[in-house]
Amino acid sequence: MEENKLTMDKLVSHCKNTGIVYPGSDIYDGLANTWDYGPVGVELKNNIKKLWWKRFVQESENSFGVDAAIMMNPRVWEASGHVASFTDPKMDCKNCRARMRADNLIEQHSKGTVDVDAMTNDEMQAYIDEHHVNCPVCGNFNWTPIRQFHLMFETSRGLAGDEKDIIYLRPETAQGEFVNFLNVQRTTRAKVPFGIGQIGKAFRNEITPGNFTFRTIEFEQMEHQMFCKNEEQGFKYYAEYKEMAMQFLIDLGFNKEHLDFKDHEKLAFYAKAACDIIFKYPFGWNELNGIHYRTDYDLARHQEFSGKNMYYLDPVTNEKYIPHDVEYSIGADRLTLAMLCEAYSEETLEGGDTRVVMHFHPAVAPYKVAVLPLQKNLSEKAREVYKKLSKHFMCTFDEAGSIGKRYRRQDQIGTPYCVTIDFDTLENNTVTLRDRDTMEQIRLDINELETYVNSKLAF
Ligand code: ATP
Repeated sequence: MEENKLTMDKLVSHCKNTGIVYPGSDIYDGLANTWDYGPVGVELKNNIKKLWWKRFVQESENSFGVDAAIMMNPRVWEASGHVASFTDPKMDCKNCRARMRADNLIEQHSKGTVDVDAMTNDEMQAYIDEHHVNCPVCGNFNWTPIRQFHLMFETSRGLAGDEKDIIYLRPETAQGEFVNFLNVQRTTRAKVPFGIGQIGKAFRNEITPGNFTFRTIEFEQMEHQMFCKNEEQGFKYYAEYKEMAMQFLIDLGFNKEHLDFKDHEKLAFYAKAACDIIFKYPFGWNELNGIHYRTDYDLARHQEFSGKNMYYLDPVTNEKYIPHDVEYSIGADRLTLAMLCEAYSEETLEGGDTRVVMHFHPAVAPYKVAVLPLQKNLSEKAREVYKKLSKHFMCTFDEAGSIGKRYRRQDQIGTPYCVTIDFDTLENNTVTLRDRDTMEQIRLDINELETYVNSKLAF
């Protein structure tokens, strides 16, 4: 079996054609940088979210979930620092009006050899002038100076135009965990160290759209904050969460060679350690998720801005302190994208036929089983099987076209098992079960199917 190189264009068109992801507002020619998940994609992303929740909330005795409001009191974003400094360095091309991020221009120009995170605006400006970095869209060198561009989306409630009424769409889910720290601690009677996890939408007015769902203006984050006592515990959990984050990806089916850690060279003044896990996307190595040891900064800031006590009282030692936090954050959409890139393969079969296969872990696969009657007059029996299995997992039913074509359609969306109903089924209640990866077929009794498929879904 041969493999062909995946490009982003190929992936975008594969996703559109198979119902995984469509361009947002498609019939109106789209809205830049928005995407809609189709019937297959919504299952895929939901499975990824469920597995994340299982690993980081359900299986951890001292972790609890929340689902906080997207719109929060604007003071939250003053406390978090977003109002003052959640900006990107933008430049406009005076020739073609393309809007670019100066840091991205330098990253692309230097092919990742320059550490842009460590550069000031003046240093970025100097680099762009010195290296004569042209506009990637029109090729001219005719930039406006670098200006800071605010990334939070604003909306208003009440009287329009009254500054007091401006509220923001949250640019990260993390603050929902911080503001609920004491609520969760009190209501669960949790003892520090404990964690709070959340999955939810975040919004950023990103300047440089592109690369499919990698960077969008609306996306979902899966975040977990681990609250602990002090620096010693902070570094311990930082190391632990780095390992857990990597193991989660490997368990999802990622090849270790396509993942790496990248330490942040420039730390925020309050942070003691930070790194990303980077993934080898078709367009190059880039961030997949982040792990940050943020000390007691976030809770202390909320204490300062809200005027509410954020201290934790240790019931055993009677010590009173503001807990430290280790944050783990990953985009559900970005992880879904990485998963799509990792799973995609084009294979040449014996006899010269080709197939596109998504090699998803069965627990991740959108549909677990496709039920296929060999001929239309077996549909009634096949529907019985569909009805029985769909009580336990997502199934799909397909009776159109040759069986070979139907197998290919399921390979394209990564369905791990195809169950074919033939004339023997009517005689002895057995079906053929075809494995997506090996393409081998076995004969099973209909009553064995649920247990067989379930045994492959363990995660
Ligand atoms: P980047 O450097 O790629 O802009 P970031 O460092 O600003 O990301 P964080 O604020 O740490 O990202 O967000 C945590 C995670 O949320 C990221 O690792 C990524 O998976 C996801 N994420 C952030 N911004 C976006 C976006 N615009 N679109 C999709 N996912 C995003």
